Amino acid sequence: MQYHLIIDLLGIKDKQVEVWDIKEEPATWLVELYTKVKKQTCPSCKAKTKRVHSYRKQLIQGSNLSHTSVKISLRKRRYLCTHCHHTFYEHLQMVDRYQRCTNSLQMSARTYSAIGSFTDAARLSGMTTNRLIRLFDRHPLQTKKVLPRAIAIDEFKGDAGGERFQTVIADVENKEIIDILPDRKVDTIKEYLQSRDTSKVQIVVMDLSKSFKQAVQKALGNPLIIADRFHYMRQVYWALDEVRREVQRDLDKKPRIQMKRSKKLLWKSVYKLDEEESEKVQKLLDIDPRLQKAYALKNKLDQWFKESDKDTAKAGLEACMQTLKESGMDSFQRVYHTFQRWKTEILQSFMYPFNNGYIEGINNKIKVLKRKSYGIKNFSRLKNKILWQQEVNKLI
Ligand SMILES: [Zn+2]
Repeated sequence: MQYHLIIDLLGIKDKQVEVWDIKEEPATWLVELYTKVKKQTCPSCKAKTKRVHSYRKQLIQGSNLSHTSVKISLRKRRYLCTHCHHTFYEHLQMVDRYQRCTNSLQMSARTYSAIGSFTDAARLSGMTTNRLIRLFDRHPLQTKKVLPRAIAIDEFKGDAGGERFQTVIADVENKEIIDILPDRKVDTIKEYLQSRDTSKVQIVVMDLSKSFKQAVQKALGNPLIIADRFHYMRQVYWALDEVRREVQRDLDKKPRIQMKRSKKLLWKSVYKLDEEESEKVQKLLDIDPRLQKAYALKNKLDQWFKESDKDTAKAGLEACMQTLKESGMDSFQRVYHTFQRWKTEILQSFMYPFNNGYIEGINNKIKVLKRKSYGIKNFSRLKNKILWQQEVNKLI
């Protein structure tokens, strides 16, 4: 192979680095590199020098070349400053001091880590998993210090750093994760917001969490708070589910199993049911008037949710809430109370219809990442992996 091509393939950009020799060893290429003399600036007194003091060989690992691992023996020059007699090694972009692999290999290893598990990434880049993880941990991605106009706060089950839930801060308009916080406590969120420049923040989208609201109000004063559409509608579906489980308990084994399997069917919007599905639903509803009532309530709210706009949402919500209040069903009365507390924020979601699927999308991505990585218990590592994944996905 041509020498200059090897330099390119190894991702070496230093112009003074050249190939001395390439030796083929079993399953490995040993690439010997040397550097040409180049005028240096003394790090101590800033004088220029070209006087070589000595050499040192540094053994480093390079990126695999067509599935063959690459060992690099780099002969580095130590220069002598003729002005102040200070000696120093030349600075090269291809490898940092005290590192045992090239920067280019480090970069590709981190990229692989963002896409798959550490084990797969280690195999692809030809290093051990432990070394790759150490390398990955040493390079946390920096997160933004200035927050945008509209942010979203949501929790996800990350099971890391001894906490079940972590918090994700996202840029709603640019659909981007901004940061990941170690838990969902008021103080954690408040301190995070206070550590950032929040002068541009006007809108905060969140689920119906008291602690998020408290944290935001403590740290930001009075931004416009919008209840996330997915999160408040979910309450209605959960209430329906509670009734279904209640009804289910009183049934014999066979209809009980049938009822249990029909959760998704009952959740499905009536607009989307085909003929066969409608019949099935009708049969289920005939079993118990409680279920019938709960199903009707769910449909009423679903209709309000889908058909309202900023002018009609308020009257529609009030009518729905009246029905919830008078339903005589515990689970729906709880929805009533929640909606009562969050009414303003819920109605704001019709004024500023941000794409609500986005936050759920983030949650799903994190779930997939966790599954692929067999769970990451170290919080910083999980955070770094989520942020790296986002960076790499932007490039793909
Ligand atoms: Zn000097």
